[in-house]
Amino acid sequence: MKFALVNGIKCTPKPKTDGICSFCASKVNSKCGDINIWHWAHYSKRECDTWWENETKWHRDWKGHFPIDWQEVTHRADDGERHIADVKTEDGCVIEFQHSFISKEERLSRDNFYPNLVWIVDGLRRKRDKDQFFKAIDSAVTLMVSPLLKKVYIDESKLIKEWQTSSSLVFFDFGEEQRIWWKLPFKDNSFAYFVPFSRTEFIDFQLGKMDVDFISFLNKCIKDFMLHLSGDHLRQQRIIVPNRLSALQSSNRLRRMRRL
Ligand SMILES: [Zn+2]
Repeated sequence: MKFALVNGIKCTPKPKTDGICSFCASKVNSKCGDINIWHWAHYSKRECDTWWENETKWHRDWKGHFPIDWQEVTHRADDGERHIADVKTEDGCVIEFQHSFISKEERLSRDNFYPNLVWIVDGLRRKRDKDQFFKAIDSAVTLMVSPLLKKVYIDESKLIKEWQTSSSLVFFDFGEEQRIWWKLPFKDNSFAYFVPFSRTEFIDFQLGKMDVDFISFLNKCIKDFMLHLSGDHLRQQRIIVPNRLSALQSSNRLRRMRRL
């Protein structure tokens, strides 16, 4: 973990320091070596979050864009189940940075656990994913030019296939400086729909630096895409747009109303 409590304060690891895990309250020790990224390690992990994955520089670079208070936040469901969110924004969106392989079952349980979940998936973990993905994008049908909307055959990329059924918001990160790739939440057995998304804007949306809120913006994009694609096309492709986004929007709306 990047943070532990030292004298009650959320701290990053410093050499030879002990702290307390803010999730399970057990003792942790700083690991500040040359090989692994500096982190806090549990003396005994028994009581801690089973969903936690060891972090890479990629995780840390992403998390570092957000305020410390938003990083490694415990989210508690109504039934008492708790997990550590990589980032939980002021809007209540949880962003999970996924580097390791995750089974479909585990992914679904997280999709169901977090009401407003955004996945950022590391597309550089496996050697072939980036090549496969961009080959699939190159040979995909361009449904719209501006913004670019690509209809990709899912069998051409292992990574797309693995994430195809996620009902949450999914973005792939292939380490490109300018952009990440948003997988639209359309349900389709054969095709996935991708839009390049500005990396900077993704972060700025979360930080409240954009004119509209993130979910309203995504909803507007989806509406525009739906308008552009004719009804025939949508019916032929049997595309189903889950109503999850509208639910997200309404929670944001409520929050804004409370603020007023
Ligand atoms: Zn712990």
